[in-house]
Amino acid sequence: MTTCHYCGEQEVMPFTCKFCGERFCREHRLPESHECIGLQKFKEERGREPEKWIYEPFQEKHKKEAGRKVPKPVLERILHALKNLNARTILYMILAVIVVVLLLSVVR
Ligand SMILES: [Zn+2]
Ligand SMILES: [Zn+2]
Repeated sequence: MTTCHYCGEQEVMPFTCKFCGERFCREHRLPESHECIGLQKFKEERGREPEKWIYEPFQEKHKKEAGRKVPKPVLERILHALKNLNARTILYMILAVIVVVLLLSVVR
């Protein structure tokens, strides 16, 4: 059992307002019926930047689709990775190769 945030009436099946998050009875479930602060805020923000509410979701979607990277060719990626390697990594790689060669010669 929940009480209505606006009138205090007990409500078995309360309605939660999606703008302010409070619970209300059937009569006061609409934002207009409970002088919703959430709705007021929503309207204020929408009034301040009207174009944002209309265009942003579309732009965001568009941006995401455009931003999807086209996979680079493998060779280009390897070259890029090699460019990013520092001296120590190269040294370790050379050491690793030497160790492998030594191990192979021991096995033989
Ligand atoms: Zn109520
Ligand atoms: Zn509300």
